[in-house]
Amino acid sequence: MSLPVVAIIGRPNVGKSTIVNRLTETSHAIVYDEPGMTRDRTYQPAYWRDREFMVVDTGGLVFDDDTEFLPLIRQQALAALAESIAAVFVVDGQEGPTGADETIADWLRQQPVPVILAVNKCESVDQGVTQAAQFWELGLGEPFPVSGIHGNGTGELLDQLVTYLPPIEAMSETSEIKVAIVGRPNVGKSSLLNAFVGENRAIVSPISGTTRDAIDTVVQRQEKTYRLIDTAGIRKKKMVEYGPEFLGINRAFKAIRRSDVVLLVIDALDGVTEQDQKLAGRITEDGRACVVVVNKWDAVAKDSHTIYDYEKLVRERLGFVEWAETIFVSAQTGQRVEKILDLVDTAAEQHQRRVTTAVINEVLEEAVGWHSPPTTRQGRQGKIYYGTQVTSQPPTLALFVNDSKLFNDNYRRYIERQVRQSLGFTGTPVRLLWRSKKLREMERGANRATKVKG
Ligand code: GDP
Ligand code: GDP
Repeated sequence: MSLPVVAIIGRPNVGKSTIVNRLTETSHAIVYDEPGMTRDRTYQPAYWRDREFMVVDTGGLVFDDDTEFLPLIRQQALAALAESIAAVFVVDGQEGPTGADETIADWLRQQPVPVILAVNKCESVDQGVTQAAQFWELGLGEPFPVSGIHGNGTGELLDQLVTYLPPIEAMSETSEIKVAIVGRPNVGKSSLLNAFVGENRAIVSPISGTTRDAIDTVVQRQEKTYRLIDTAGIRKKKMVEYGPEFLGINRAFKAIRRSDVVLLVIDALDGVTEQDQKLAGRITEDGRACVVVVNKWDAVAKDSHTIYDYEKLVRERLGFVEWAETIFVSAQTGQRVEKILDLVDTAAEQHQRRVTTAVINEVLEEAVGWHSPPTTRQGRQGKIYYGTQVTSQPPTLALFVNDSKLFNDNYRRYIERQVRQSLGFTGTPVRLLWRSKKLREMERGANRATKVKG
């Protein structure tokens, strides 16, 4: 079971870290060092009443000329937001609303997660409420006056926050699989949706907590429920004239973010395009499971080698999701359409899968036995102490090592391949976190989530 994540967002110095400390009190930070990230994201477990969640501090949102996001930082915040169930937007009540706050607010309003506005530094009894009230103008609803330093108001904030967490029962074994159908215009998304709906019982349901016109379609098949994410556009398309930006890539990105499994639909006649690669990249980045659906297979002239050749080509061009299964279908004739949902089931299962520490360490031992970690010219050699799965959706393994810098990309890829070869994980990305750990700490046998420097 993975805990729901709450993102803390705001410009530097408004008191984000102070608030995080307040919300998590005595918990220990877990620093995930993810390759390609400029700044580590820090996750901390927190609880309020009977609810548990993780808090992720996004680092300060920094602006260029006070108006434009620095793309990298924005990406970071986006990535954090992608996996979050809610965001806490922290502003400085003593300073009042700034241009930067407005920019962040504008951006947050477009995100599909609920936002709680925390007006920090409002410890003053006579001014706190007035200070907070200035922030109604951000258009994010009620500003909550808080003081990270003194703790005032954090109870109210947490009460509000837990209303956004999924109910406790829903967090265990999910009964519903969230599926996004994405792909370029005209690849056959709406035809596929109709095919799913035609054969199964379907209901259309607006998404709670989101504005806009996002509509999901819920389909039942055998004992399972599939929530097809944001099908509003796919359904409406036939009736309304939209510009070229319609169902643009940003909308696809949002659907990906809300899903468990993404159906990446490709037109068999066009093959894999650059747009498809972009979507594949995003699916991996967001840690979603994926099935590659090559549609319009009826329209392709075939001989006995076609599927094999085509599959190889797809795999090559969609390297980002090389772990995904590929299926060749025709939404028009219905060929193999039902089978898509079987692959969705498998991918969702693997996405949620948990592997025991014992099994992981067997795999690691075997891998290291075949091919030992690199040694530097100075004679220092990488050493893997042990690995353990820290979360699922996607499966994420932390590998505790003497010094993560001693493991080059080549070796990391090798271990990844071995993990997949031994453990499978078909249809889902797998993340490996390389964490340095001092031998002394290891010897103390600290097996709780203690602070680990990347
Ligand atoms: P971050 O950059 O957003 O993470 O901000 P920090 O948590 O590092 O805090 C920035 C500054 O604001 C520090 O000097 C804190 O002591 C101060 N600060 C944080 N919370 C409060 C508060 O509730 N009241 C006051 N007066 N100052 C605060
Ligand atoms: P969307 O824009 O991705 O939703 O694509 P549509 O479902 O509207 O389909 C675009 C066009 O492709 C329509 O003219 C469909 O009739 C056609 N199409 C969709 N699926 C298939 C298929 O399996 N085979 C063939 N030959 N055409 C298809």
